[in-house]
Amino acid sequence: MIYQVAVPTPLDQVFDYLPPENWMPYPLAVGMRVLVPFGNRVLGGLIVAIQEESDCPIEKLKAIRAVLDKTPLFNTEELALLQWVSRYYHYPLGEVLDAALPSLLRSGKTELVKKPTQRVYSLSPQAREFTLETLPLKKNTVQHRICSLLWEYSEALSREAILQQIPTAAPSLSKLVGAGWLIEEVRERKELLETFPQDSPPELNPDQRAAVTKITDSLDKFFPCVLDGVTGSGKTEVYLQVIAEVLTQQRQALVLVPEINLTPQMLQRFRQRFPVNIAVLHSQISAPARLQAWRAAQSGTAQIVIGTRSAVWTSFANLGVIVVDEEHDLSYKQQDSLRYSARDVAMVRAQRTNIPIILGSATPCLETLYNAQQGRYTHLSLPERAGSAAHPSVKIVDMRQQPRQLLSKTLHQAIKQRLAEKQQVLLFMNRRGYAPTLTCYHCGWVAHCLACSANLTYHAQPPRLECHHCGVVRPLDIVCPECQHTELHFLGRGTERIEEDLQALFPEARILRIDSDSTRQKQKMQGFIEQIHAGEADILIGTQMLAKGHHFPQVTLVGVLNCDGGLFNVDFRGSEHLAQMLVQVSGRAGREAVAGEVILQTYHPEHALFQHLLQQGYPAFAEIALQERREANLPPYGYLALLRTEAENFEKAVNVLQAAKMELNIFSDIELWGPVRAPMEKRAHFYRAQLLLQSVRRDALHQGLRAVMPNLRKLANAQKVRFSLDIDPLDLL
Ligand code: ADP
Ligand code: ZN
Ligand code: ZN
Repeated sequence: MIYQVAVPTPLDQVFDYLPPENWMPYPLAVGMRVLVPFGNRVLGGLIVAIQEESDCPIEKLKAIRAVLDKTPLFNTEELALLQWVSRYYHYPLGEVLDAALPSLLRSGKTELVKKPTQRVYSLSPQAREFTLETLPLKKNTVQHRICSLLWEYSEALSREAILQQIPTAAPSLSKLVGAGWLIEEVRERKELLETFPQDSPPELNPDQRAAVTKITDSLDKFFPCVLDGVTGSGKTEVYLQVIAEVLTQQRQALVLVPEINLTPQMLQRFRQRFPVNIAVLHSQISAPARLQAWRAAQSGTAQIVIGTRSAVWTSFANLGVIVVDEEHDLSYKQQDSLRYSARDVAMVRAQRTNIPIILGSATPCLETLYNAQQGRYTHLSLPERAGSAAHPSVKIVDMRQQPRQLLSKTLHQAIKQRLAEKQQVLLFMNRRGYAPTLTCYHCGWVAHCLACSANLTYHAQPPRLECHHCGVVRPLDIVCPECQHTELHFLGRGTERIEEDLQALFPEARILRIDSDSTRQKQKMQGFIEQIHAGEADILIGTQMLAKGHHFPQVTLVGVLNCDGGLFNVDFRGSEHLAQMLVQVSGRAGREAVAGEVILQTYHPEHALFQHLLQQGYPAFAEIALQERREANLPPYGYLALLRTEAENFEKAVNVLQAAKMELNIFSDIELWGPVRAPMEKRAHFYRAQLLLQSVRRDALHQGLRAVMPNLRKLANAQKVRFSLDIDPLDLL
């Protein structure tokens, strides 16, 4: 027998090997990892096929050195999906497999050495002498709640599980241990989250019921659908009830979310609903714990997997449904190495597995809406908010009347009123730092990154200049390096400066700034969310981190300070992304009893995007945007691929793309744009160029790429030019 092995090398091919000498213990199968000699190295790889013959003369073949698995890591269906991914993204199969595996199984690594551990708490014998009622602790205190949780649910609970239920439990836990009521131990980490089933499903409204019925009627076939519902319309409830049905059939569910730490409520709801094992997969989880979660899904021990983008690669024993929540979210697309879209891969996976897939969003992306219009996806809509909340009112404020103000009179007044009524205000500004520009009025100098074609942003906490593209940090200039003038000025406002200005305007208000700087430390975000829920903040200032998925019942006013950047974005998707963002932030307003209000500040109130979006809603906006795409043969009416290069000078970067163009020119169905300098010409000392490929036929585009990619990889390699291919690029930057 000849074993075809995919190894992680840039060469897009598989290699033939003989079995290990005198191999007896168990039959080798497709999907097992092996170590193989490769050139003068030994590499880890995966068996992808077993054949009787090889194209190579048999005496030239080498033998497999070692076999790493006793059972396959992927079943044949999953392997076929990964092979499809390799073909579709024109990415070497060996590297696709490596990207799809948990890091501890990559590159021939052997299974984990150290078991992950966690701190667990249980009631001490001393405590067990009492009952929950007679326990000498004050009722309704955190300490008492912790004890009752332990009484109610199990012998021992992990620290994580307790904090999930009682976020402020940390200090009380150590006090209870100190007082001898609890025992703290370090135990091997359980593979899965503890669940706390305690809520029963609500009665669905008619739209939800219709959606759930349509999906559960189609559990045994490929059933792609869009769950199109405004924020708060009860989409999550639909996922839960569909999954409940899937679980009764002993099948598993995969739920993809854009960023797990932004959706703790989602996780919480799953844990409270289902008495099953839930595995969580995202980048903040340690490698051993991820491997455990992955194994649990593979063996069928975990019935539900909730995870971010890369969870789409999880191997399942018996997958029954896939949910992609906030399917329009950009974070589903990986922006380096294997540039896949987890949503699109999930779609293909569902199709190959013959199961339903639910794409949920308040603002489905244009491709998805188009697929629904074409009848490829079933369109399920939830037009009304669940519960009592009404749609928020939206007002546009013309800033030309009051230029350069942080707050228009309207917004200022509205904030004052909400503060007086003890409601929360959310202000949105998608720019972190203090000021985006430091300049000298005397000579016109601007603080610039030496490595990138970009300005440096001034950050006040701690004081520094930072490049948001390459991350370089340097001290603040005190004198102008050009003219030695000592008076430098900050232009523009980021979240830090807005926080400062607002504090001056509303000295009494408790202000919380939430951006990637203020939430860099682990658990910080969770802490902020708890503060908001506890009503310990009056004004929230946030970047788009805050626009997604959250449910803050006390926020009744949302202010968008300035969104004009998005109106004139060079990227053809700019307006789509802006519209989605505006709808998403607006969705944060008034999710419960009090009606919400949204105020948008702009210098372009007459812009068509606002007119369509605000007067007629997202579907009307999408209709017009689709029209424009159709006229320009842009996605979903045409297909794009972007070749990018980076080199130490622009010449070299362009040369490789010039060569690509020469080779691609013979494919008459592909239009070529460029090569041109990338919109951001230089990043981290590298000069960047790009060549855009466009075609109205997807197969033609891929055929051309298939023909030229091997040569281009070699050429780029030889020229020491960084080279990448982005299929279905989301931005052209
Ligand atoms: P979405 O996922 O669309 O934002 P959710 O499923 O989170 O919406 O629902 C919003 C709120 O309405 C939640 O608090 C949820 O518990 C509640 N809810 C959802 N469906 C119902 C229903 N049928 N009856 C009562 N409350 C519901
Ligand atoms: Zn100067
Ligand atoms: Zn830089």
